Amino acid sequence: MDHIAQRVSRINISQSVAIAELARRLKAEGRDIINLSIGEPDFDTPEPARLAAIQAIESGQTRYTNVAGTPALRQAIIERFQKDYGITYRQDEIIACAGGKQAIFNAMFASLDPGDEVIIPTPCWVSYPDIVTLAEGRPVFVPCSPAHDFLLQAEELERSITPATRWLILNNPCNPTGAAYSAQDLKPLCEVLLRHPQVWVLTDDIYDKLVFDGFEFSTIAQVEPCLKERTLTVNGCSKTYAMTGWRLGYAAGPRALIQAMDKLQGQSTSNPSSISQAAAVAALRSDDAALQPLIQTYQHRRDLVIEGLSRIPGISCTAPRGAFYVFPNIRGLLGKSSRGGARLQSDLDFVNALLQEQGVATVHGDAYMCPDHFRISYALDDSSLNKALERIRDFCAGLS
Ligand code: PLP
Repeated sequence: MDHIAQRVSRINISQSVAIAELARRLKAEGRDIINLSIGEPDFDTPEPARLAAIQAIESGQTRYTNVAGTPALRQAIIERFQKDYGITYRQDEIIACAGGKQAIFNAMFASLDPGDEVIIPTPCWVSYPDIVTLAEGRPVFVPCSPAHDFLLQAEELERSITPATRWLILNNPCNPTGAAYSAQDLKPLCEVLLRHPQVWVLTDDIYDKLVFDGFEFSTIAQVEPCLKERTLTVNGCSKTYAMTGWRLGYAAGPRALIQAMDKLQGQSTSNPSSISQAAAVAALRSDDAALQPLIQTYQHRRDLVIEGLSRIPGISCTAPRGAFYVFPNIRGLLGKSSRGGARLQSDLDFVNALLQEQGVATVHGDAYMCPDHFRISYALDDSSLNKALERIRDFCAGLS
C-alpha cells in the first residue's frame, strides 16, 4: 500500500526508540556500543511477579478479561492509591491498559475534540506531543527553566491557559530531566487550576517510586482533593517493577472519563494481557521494602554520572530528584568540531558524533522539545557507566 493516512504523516517516530534501534544495529554489526539511550530498568522483574505469571498460565488464566482489567487487578491498584497517597477510588474509576502509554493515548482520544489545547511543560517525554496531535488536539508547549529545576511555575501555567485549554499534562518525576514536584511545588499549580474549571490534569506518575535523597513524592489528587474530579493519574509497572515488556499500565480518574477510555480500548486492544495482569497484582501487592536496594542503586548511579559529567568542561548538569535520567546542558560545546570531523551545530549533531566516534548512545534534547541538551539514561551497571563517562570525556576533550 502506498497511501499513508495524513494522521500518521503528522506525527514523528519516537526519536528515542530510533536511536535505541540504531545503537542495537551498530552493536549487531560488531561495534562496541554503550547504550545510554534506553528508558528501561536493567533489573529483572521481581520474583513474585514472575511466579504469579507462571501460576496464571498453569491455572488457565489465559482468556479475555474485562476490558478495564480483572477485578483483582483493579482492587490491587485501588489499594496502592489508598496506601501510597490516601486517595480512594472505586473499581469503575480504574482502567488497566497495555502500558502507561496506552492509558495516555486512551485519555487523549476519549476527551479531545479538534483544536482542543493541551498544555505540555517542556522538556517533555517524547510521546505526549504526538499522542495529542494524533487525537487532533493542539499541544501548547511551556518551556520550563533549569533555573527552576525544570519545574512548571504557576505564572507560566496561568499565562498558557486559554478558553480552549482542555488538559495540563504533568510528568512527575519527569522524563527526561528527573525533575520532581513536591507538595509545595504542586500547591501553586493547584491554585491556578482551581481558578480554571475547564482544565483537567493528567499526571503521569510512572516514576513515582524512583525518588532520591529522601524526597517525598506527592501527586495532584492528594495535594488538592478538590481537583480529584478532574485529575487522571497514570501509573504502571514498567519502571518501578522493571516490567517494560509485560505492557501493564493503569489510570485512575473520574468514572465518565474511565468509561470513555474503556469504550475506546474495547474497540482497539481490549484487555491488557491476562498473564501480565496476574503478574501486576503480585508486583503491586509486594512489600515496598524490596524496592529500597533498587532505589539506592539508582541514586548511587545518578551521583556517579553527575560527578563524572561535572569534570567535563562545557557540560553542566544538576542532580535530579528522581527517575533514572540526567539531562546535561551542552551549549558550551556547540559550534565546535569533533576529532572525526563532525561539525556540532546542534544537540543532534553532538549525539550522532558521540555514537559514531565513541560508541555511546544517548538522546538529543530536541527530541524532548529542549535543544542544547542531551539525555543520559543511567539504568546501567557502574562499569558501563564509568566507561561511557570516560568516552564522553575523551570525545569532549577532542573538540576544537
Ligand atoms: N510516561 C513516561 C514519562 C515514560 O517515560 C514512559 C516510558 O518511557 C511511559 C509513560 C510509558 O511507559 P509504559 O507504556 O511502558 O508503561
